[in-house]
This record gives sequence, C-alpha cells and structure tokens, in this order.
Amino acid sequence: RRKEDIAHALQPAVTSDGHRVAVFANIGGVKDAGQIVDVGGEGVGLLRSEFLFMDRSAAPSEDEQTESYTAVIRALGKEKHVIIRTLDVGGDKPLPYLPIPKEDNPFLGERGIRVGLDRPEVLRTQLRALLRASKEGVLHVMFPMIATVQELRDAKAMLAEESKALGIPPFPCGIMVEVPAVAVMAETFATEADFFSIGTNDLTQYTLAMDRGHPKLAPKVDALNPAVLRLIAQTIEGAQAHKRLTGICGGIAGDPHAVPILVGLGVDELSVSIPAIPTVKAQIRRLNLSDCQKLAKRALDCTTAEEVRALMPDLED
Ligand code: PEP
Ligand code: MG
Repeated sequence: RRKEDIAHALQPAVTSDGHRVAVFANIGGVKDAGQIVDVGGEGVGLLRSEFLFMDRSAAPSEDEQTESYTAVIRALGKEKHVIIRTLDVGGDKPLPYLPIPKEDNPFLGERGIRVGLDRPEVLRTQLRALLRASKEGVLHVMFPMIATVQELRDAKAMLAEESKALGIPPFPCGIMVEVPAVAVMAETFATEADFFSIGTNDLTQYTLAMDRGHPKLAPKVDALNPAVLRLIAQTIEGAQAHKRLTGICGGIAGDPHAVPILVGLGVDELSVSIPAIPTVKAQIRRLNLSDCQKLAKRALDCTTAEEVRALMPDLED
C-alpha cells in the first residue's frame, strides 16, 4: 500500500459532517493484540478472557493472568483504551476445574457473571490480576451477562475490596448489555455502570428466544430485527442520560448494512474483528450523521429485519 493510504487508515473515523466514531478490535488472545494498531484499530473493545482458561486442567494463576493482560495493554500503548471482559463461561462449555452441574437450559443457567459471583475466588483472582496490569495503560473492565443491578453491585464490591487490599485504584467498570432486561433498565444501570458494551449476539438470541447457534434458526437470529434495534436505542438513550458511552461488540458492529443505522442511533464505538477494522472505518468516513439519524428512525419503524436490510439496498451481501 502507498504510504499516504496507510497514514489515512490510521486516522480516526469521522463522518463527512464531523462526527467521530471509535473503531476498536475484538480479540481472543495476546497474539492478536499486536496487529490492531497497524490496521488502524483505536483500542480493544472486547478481549474475551476465556482464552486463558480453556484447554487446561487448572485455572491460570494470578501472576500468569497479570502477565497476559499486561502484554495486551502494552501492545496498545499508554493511551489506547483496552476493555477486558471477565471470564464468560457457562454450562455449555464447562471447564474441568470449574464444574457446573448439568442444566436443562445452559444458556439460561449459570453463565457469565453468575459463575464468577458463585465462585468468588475465580473472579477475585482475575480482578487482582487486572488491577495489577492496569497501571500499564488505559484499562477498562466489563462483566458479561449481567441481568440485574444487584449482580453489578456484587461484582463492583469485590473489585473495591481487592483494590483496597492491593492499594491499586479501581479501573472503570462497565457491563455487557446482552440480556433484554438490562436494555430495558439501561437508564438505571447507567447510574452504576461506567460504560455499556452491547453484545448483540446474545442480546438477539435472548430477545427472540432463538438459539444463536441453532442451524435452522440461525438466519432469523438477526440483530437488525427491529425489536433488537429498539433495545439498542433504549440502551444508548439510557447511557446518554447519564453521560455514559455505549459501544457495540457483537457481530452486527461489522455488518455494512448495520453500521449507518448504529451510527444514527448514537453509538460511540464499534468493536469488530481485526480484518473488518479498515472497512468499517472507511464506511464511517462516507457517512453523514444527520442522514444516519434519519435512517435509524426509519429502521426503528420497520416491521421485519428484512425491511431494515432493504433500507440499504445498494450494498452487496
Ligand atoms: C455477544 O454476545 O454479542 C458478545 C460479543 O459476546 P460473545 O459473542 O462472546 O458471547
Ligand atoms: Mg455474549
């Protein structure tokens, strides 16, 4: 690529009328972190910390975790935001050292933050490692699968205790918005969460009550379903009422049919796979915020996901 093209790719993504949207990376390990900055990624919007816990017979130690989180933060430098999600496992993928009794409905059972609150030593160890790594840069942490305000309070209380014990100030704490109850109650959550990151993969599956991995249902599990869009809109409004930022880290953030609508709904940050970063930034630069806002209004009034997708007919699928 020409030098100017590369320099341009590293610039922020700003719409033609001057509205900036941050484009971050979703990553699943330390190795990926090294590639983000080169393709124009402006931060990490989601580090799935599961990679540290999978395929092993015992949980990773506090030191081992500290080392991995430190490596990710160092790869991004002193100024770029790194959002790390605490362990998100559940009954569908049990770990040998973290047994979860067999459940009839693992996706409605012990998963995400519920596992960490039930086994406090696992979450506390992770929080201590995150606190120790936090001095390397700008670390933000978020909790997965939050459903009630009490869960957030309990997780934050653990963080406050570990922070005090280590003498390291706490990092900003956000939540994944993946459960419809949280989107509906967003304005309340925004008084206690420092930021939101919408996990549209799970939010869509729980809104439509359709398994996101179901071979027959998968095509219908579309985050551009107007029901999901209305929940996204409600989440962003709740966040804005308390001056909190909202990102989207589910797969829809990298869908060209969705980007203009999400920008129009007022999202502050899109977190996508590393290869999608340049494309999403290029698309944002071609947009105009006021057009996107009109488009988003129309999308919210649509009846079906197909109708929403047809609002952007020029795009190739
Ligand atoms: C999501 O649910 O949209 C999300 C980003 O989390 P995961 O895909 O890891 O469940
Ligand atoms: Mg999820």
